[in-house]
Amino acid sequence: MICWPGLLAPISGAGRPRPSGILKVFFLTQFSDLGLAEPILRAISAQGYETPTPIQQQVIPAMMAGNDILGTAQTGTGKTAAFVLPLLNTLAKSNRRPDAKACRALVLAPTRELAAQIVESVRAYSAEMRTSVTMIIGGMKISKQVRAMQRGMDIVVATPGRLLDLQSQNAIRLDQVETVVIDEADHMMDMGFLPQIRKVLAQLPEKRQTVLLSATMPKDIRALADKFLDNPVSIAVAAESRPVERIDQSVRFLTPNQKRDALTEILSADNVDSAIVFTRTKRGADRVSRHLEDAGVASAAIHGNKSQSQRTRTLDAFKGRQLRVLVATDIAARGIDIDKVSHVVNFELPNVPESYVHRIGRTARAGESGTAITLCAPDERKLLRDIEKVIGNRLPGSDAAGPDESQGEKAGRSFRPEKDGQPRRRPRRRGPRGQGGAKGHRKGQGQSSQAS
Ligand code: AMP
Repeated sequence: MICWPGLLAPISGAGRPRPSGILKVFFLTQFSDLGLAEPILRAISAQGYETPTPIQQQVIPAMMAGNDILGTAQTGTGKTAAFVLPLLNTLAKSNRRPDAKACRALVLAPTRELAAQIVESVRAYSAEMRTSVTMIIGGMKISKQVRAMQRGMDIVVATPGRLLDLQSQNAIRLDQVETVVIDEADHMMDMGFLPQIRKVLAQLPEKRQTVLLSATMPKDIRALADKFLDNPVSIAVAAESRPVERIDQSVRFLTPNQKRDALTEILSADNVDSAIVFTRTKRGADRVSRHLEDAGVASAAIHGNKSQSQRTRTLDAFKGRQLRVLVATDIAARGIDIDKVSHVVNFELPNVPESYVHRIGRTARAGESGTAITLCAPDERKLLRDIEKVIGNRLPGSDAAGPDESQGEKAGRSFRPEKDGQPRRRPRRRGPRGQGGAKGHRKGQGQSSQAS
């Protein structure tokens, strides 16, 4: 494994020295320094992006140099543009048309929503190019996808199961793939997709570029990388640490019955402009949505049992502000990029502690602040402790739970400043801060925030 020269440690974490050169790199790099084609630079400018984010500064040159990449990066760091822009650059440089049923670039994503978002990004960044892109995902008519592939595609964005379905019908061929990107590999693993990914990778041409991105690097993902990546450049950026600092987090200890009333009360408050309520299961999401309806709070649920058109409709209504409350499972919500979500309520705690960070990261985007309230039942205390281990902090209010776990509510506290501007209690901070987020790189925001 080799490391990208001079940029191995972009994160200034506790105990990790920050080489002085990195600051310079962050200040000096502009999109125009990266050697991207003119139509791409114009499209980036139309998006309002001024400077590349840390992950973009590293992934774009490494991909353009033809390297395989093993990247640790989360949603919110600008990772989509980091791999889409170099893909488009390759296409801009050679306008070789793919043969019928073939594609030149393949992006694998765990969920339909993430796939849809990637396609949206490809369209935005290739607005001034003639790039063909299609989405191959479950839950939609396969015949349309078969038809789309007949003429060949520059870029295919797919969920692994449906991709293999199409391949078994000889509707797609993978022998012309020049670059494959596996996005959110750890999430794929959580969803049991690793066998399908191995199957897809094993069928790609040996001479290809492979990019594997993952929010975390568990053993299985490393093993996948060892088998399928060739001498990859290793790149890591911090999680969305800066946005998280703007989130007013708290936890309340409640019995399951008390949770419902608390939820209605939270969502009825005037300051809740738009909220996502997280549940662990699809049935749980439906139950919560029904409860809210009975309580007079309009909401809709998205999860894997809803049809794609229902999910798209619900998301559009939420994005368009016709729907104020979205009830979602982790899988359905992961990777969704919606600005201006004022509240996240964890109605149930996630089984996987990292999901907590993904969940609360739905709020406080685009420079806004946000509120995240976690409702913890007595039997969820262990999950809460796991979350606190991952984030390296006690959640404000968590010490309010006494030893008797069967007791009811012991109100949570917030660690955001009180009215007098003084923080009531600031949790101990550990781990890297402040360099991973994509927001803050748009026009009108100072560059210095990027490197500070
Ligand atoms: P992602 O991590 O790919 O989900 O991106 C998160 C958000 O960051 C998206 O809304 C992008 O539009 C935005 N974004 C990506 N790159 C940049 C950039 N260089 N400057 C500002 N915003 C960006």
